[in-house]
Amino acid sequence: MVYNFFEKSIKKRLFLIDKEIPKNTVLPSRVFPFIWFFVKQLKFPCLVVFLFALTANVMLALEPWFFGQFSQAFSDLYSDKSSSYTYLWLLVLAYIIFVQILSRLLFTIVGIINSFYFPPFVMMIRRQLGQYLYGHSYRFFQDDFVGSLAGKVMEMPDSIRKVILICSVSLNYCVIQLIGTIIFFCFLNWVFIVIIGIYLVMGAGIAYYLQKYVFPLELDTIEGTNTLRGHYIDSISNIFLVKTFSRQKSEDQYIRGYMKSASLFKQKTMIANCFVEFMRHSTNLFLQISILIASIYFYSRGQMGLSDVVAALSYGAYVAYNSWWLDQIIQECISLYAEIKNGIDTIVQDFEVKDSPDASELIVNDGSIKIENLSFSYPAQQVFEKLSLTITSGQKVGIVGTSGAGKSTLVQLILRLYDLQQGKIYFSGQDIAHVTQESLRSVMSVIPQTSDLLHRSVIENIRFGRPNATLDEIIAASKQAYAHDFIVKLIDQNGYTGYDAEVGERGVKLSGGQRQRIALARAILKNAPLLILDEATSALDSESEKLIEESLKNVMRGRTVIAIAHRLSTLQSMDRIIVLDKGRIIEDGTHEDLLAQGGLYARLWRLQSAGFIADQV
Ligand code: ADP
Repeated sequence: MVYNFFEKSIKKRLFLIDKEIPKNTVLPSRVFPFIWFFVKQLKFPCLVVFLFALTANVMLALEPWFFGQFSQAFSDLYSDKSSSYTYLWLLVLAYIIFVQILSRLLFTIVGIINSFYFPPFVMMIRRQLGQYLYGHSYRFFQDDFVGSLAGKVMEMPDSIRKVILICSVSLNYCVIQLIGTIIFFCFLNWVFIVIIGIYLVMGAGIAYYLQKYVFPLELDTIEGTNTLRGHYIDSISNIFLVKTFSRQKSEDQYIRGYMKSASLFKQKTMIANCFVEFMRHSTNLFLQISILIASIYFYSRGQMGLSDVVAALSYGAYVAYNSWWLDQIIQECISLYAEIKNGIDTIVQDFEVKDSPDASELIVNDGSIKIENLSFSYPAQQVFEKLSLTITSGQKVGIVGTSGAGKSTLVQLILRLYDLQQGKIYFSGQDIAHVTQESLRSVMSVIPQTSDLLHRSVIENIRFGRPNATLDEIIAASKQAYAHDFIVKLIDQNGYTGYDAEVGERGVKLSGGQRQRIALARAILKNAPLLILDEATSALDSESEKLIEESLKNVMRGRTVIAIAHRLSTLQSMDRIIVLDKGRIIEDGTHEDLLAQGGLYARLWRLQSAGFIADQV
């Protein structure tokens, strides 16, 4: 019954994970506004946690005062045997209720609220960060280690959770203790106020040192660890390369270099923190000894009672102990702050390719493409200058050229993976810069040279092309791609068979030809009016290639096709072949036209041995 109640209440809080990041959100690039962006989505529970912890901490801060009162009451009873115990018992009762019971009860409630809300809250942040991350351009993912990006999306939300809890529970505790102490000493004697004042100035000095020296070191440590993780994931994900080139040892050495620099940053940070600890010990030494000497002095002159002396010494000891704890908390906060800042610096950048404010959904009238005066360069290299090209709807165009001529870049520009520096590209009569990226790419199917598959079942991989496709449609697409026959024979290590079998990470459990045929089934299912083949058959053996070409004939029917190929024989049947050289179209015509022209295409054709052209001609 109770269990059911809890189960239901816990499940209710999962709604947090359904909260999406609002469209066109610009995430704050400074740490506290960034944290607030998420906290404001959970304002009420955070406020309750904060207020309950605050109340509990105020109660705990009264403990030294109670100790002072106890000692005074005992002392009075000792010196006057006839006096009553009532006051002492009342004190004990108040102490037990507030300091011992209520404060613990409030902390228990804080713990329960945390358990209800914080796990889904962390997932909500991960999801929203992930949604934001997907909005980045293709280049963004090429420039950063994907492993370390994933690491940041996983770890940053947990750091945010820790910051919230530290601020609302432990930091709150230390600050309340300090405020309680200051208030107590303010009522006691001006000398104690001076002592506390000096102590606070010393504390401010330590805070300055932390911010000036320790914080940058923490940032370096986190960056160093992230870089190490990125290189490690890169190496492991290229395990085939590492094994086949027998590079385990050199990879180990390579990673060792990054481990050394990450470790060096950590060592420096820890040493800097040792200084902090030393400074903190010195300030505590000053505080406790000063309070002790001042207490003895004022007690001896009758200016302080026993209860004040006991409370003053207890408050001094509490502050000293708490300041050590405060240091640990501040060190953790700095490292969490640095981690969040590092994540923000990577993830919260302006999107390089954005939907324009007036972007509308692309309306497919036909499959025509028109490129006008296109200029494009990568940061270090100009690829196109004033390129123009028109492809009519339904035309099948082959693109040929030496390596580095700009073939893949052209296709990526049509997909709007990059923005143009100059010129326009129209698809179906609409400027692609003014339609939404999602609607644009939803009408284009791409089959790259090696089709990486997701580490999911075959059916999920094919359904990626059209999420609402029925099983019959998936099977029909697989048959068209000559994939059905091998799919039904698949069996994975968990015993799943056929379409339910898992393909392994990036499809490693399948042959290149099989992977490509699954990718083809996916493209067939997508049924897009533009089909882009980027060396789709070049990595295949002849038999797979033959099968895929058969299937491609089916897929190409009625669509506009752009096919990049090194193997010219695969382009013979195209309506038109374009030869690119250093970003310029130097030849344009049918296979026969180009052979007759006797230019680069004809030369490449002659040089072709077994249908394959070397990169360098
Ligand atoms: P092709 O497909 O014809 O081999 P690409 O379009 O891949 O040629 O490349 C055209 C030129 O742009 C090449 O010189 C290549 O080095 C450069 N290039 C390709 N991709 C990038 C990139 N992501 N960043 C910088 N330069 C690139």
